[in-house]
Amino acid sequence: MLNIVLFGPPGAGKGTQSVHLVKSYGLVHLSTGDIFRSNIKGNTELGKMAQSYMDKGQLVPDDVTIRMLESEVDQHREAKGFIFDGFPRTTAQAEALDAFLDNRNTPVACMLALEVDEAELKSRLLARAETSGRPDDANPVVIQKRIDVYNAETAPVAGHYAAQGKFTGIDGIGAVEEISDRLKAAIAL
Ligand code: ADP
Repeated sequence: MLNIVLFGPPGAGKGTQSVHLVKSYGLVHLSTGDIFRSNIKGNTELGKMAQSYMDKGQLVPDDVTIRMLESEVDQHREAKGFIFDGFPRTTAQAEALDAFLDNRNTPVACMLALEVDEAELKSRLLARAETSGRPDDANPVVIQKRIDVYNAETAPVAGHYAAQGKFTGIDGIGAVEEISDRLKAAIAL
């Protein structure tokens, strides 16, 4: 099993890079944001609940998010490993993930953190809004809120994995292929 936490602020390129890593390593990509969005599209109870937080740039509550993620992992018993994209986003989520994976003897191998400065993040998100149809990308107030939430609640998760010797920072500026080469080099270590 190869379990990778792909980490970074909104707009850092986690989704884009996940596509490359899935191709190279045959992993299952689990994006909590994508799962919430597909629930919104399907008009499920979970989707309605998640949307009320996402539209404001807030995090969906931990208990709901953790339960959803664990059920997704359990639906892929045959997986060679997972790329966790957008999860864990709080220290409580990281602790829950560690306990859950330890139980299955398949711990997180590494956290790869895409590093991109705030000005670049904002311009990427606004550009993405043109094609993504995501309301949370189109509104500068919501973008700022997501970045603030990232700094306050999500950034500390890096320390959680650094303390386990599993953290690697990756320069997230450059061509998509260059960045994916950097990620693969870090995985090969
Ligand atoms: P981005 O990384 O661009 O912010 P995501 O698609 O990962 O986009 O997440 C979109 C929104 O979904 C977040 O702003 C948040 O409201 C919700 N969300 C996604 N993952 C989580 C999570 N692990 N915990 C809580 N909320 C989440």
